[in-house]
Amino acid sequence: MKWITIAALAGTAVLFAGAANAQQGVDFSKVEIKTTDLGNKTYMLEGQGGNITVAVGTDGIIMVDSQFAPLHDKIKAAIAKISPLPVKYLINTHYHGDHVGGNAAFHKEGATIVAHDNIRVRLAAGTTNGLTGNKTPPAEADAIPTETYLVGGTKVELGGRVAQISHVVSAHTDGDSWVYFADANVLALGDTFTRNYPNLDWGNGGTMDGMILANERYLKAANDTTKVVPGHGPLATKANIQEFHDMLVTARDQVKKLFDEGKSEQEVLAAKPLADLDTKWGAAQGLGTPTTFLRNVYNSFRNHD
Ligand SMILES: [Zn+2]
Ligand SMILES: [Zn+2]
Repeated sequence: MKWITIAALAGTAVLFAGAANAQQGVDFSKVEIKTTDLGNKTYMLEGQGGNITVAVGTDGIIMVDSQFAPLHDKIKAAIAKISPLPVKYLINTHYHGDHVGGNAAFHKEGATIVAHDNIRVRLAAGTTNGLTGNKTPPAEADAIPTETYLVGGTKVELGGRVAQISHVVSAHTDGDSWVYFADANVLALGDTFTRNYPNLDWGNGGTMDGMILANERYLKAANDTTKVVPGHGPLATKANIQEFHDMLVTARDQVKKLFDEGKSEQEVLAAKPLADLDTKWGAAQGLGTPTTFLRNVYNSFRNHD
């Protein structure tokens, strides 16, 4: 348990535990996959980790994100209840293990993995968490995307379905994609949009300005009947994106002000600048707790400005 030692030395054991690999302490045998029908043969799957979106075409399935590796069989069973067709494309919204854990298994079964090119780079090289120093080793070859794009976006077409994939620069990470299924009016946004405070992976290219710009784009893409699949948490609407966007703007401005005044991280934590937001947005555990979010926002300025 080397990570406990490191965390204790850093004096941040509680925070570190929250930021540790989310697989720690999860009994995957108890996880159930919940399927929500979004209409027009498009579905949201919730289990443990990032939400999954499934779009069924006439000759195969497009899937967005894949949760954790040990859940592959359960996810596959949930998809089989929707359609007997194979998953032919798996789109990754970003490189985090709770979204790409199933990559290798689905790829071995024939799925082509599509992502922004920075996901390929980060999965191949391994990564380090900026806040904790926690290291994720390089992924196995089968988990690494083979169809990647660098700028703008790309498109996946399969059996009458179209997944419009767009990049947002330096938001949650430096390799975020969001996906729009126009025929179902479904947005799949990965961790650039969540229902609690988001994680901000500033050690791997994430920035508050990028998160805000991303959500401004979603507000333009969405209308009042758009079904919004968040990275984590329940299905959402355009109104929820607006609330999330406004929270991000407030958080950025409040923390940046203190940062620019030269306040240390400890001083900013003590000042509780986001106290008014914490009740609504703070998660009880994990990366969306008030303290972890505040530390991430503060350090994102230290890292980028
Ligand atoms: Zn996630
Ligand atoms: Zn993430």
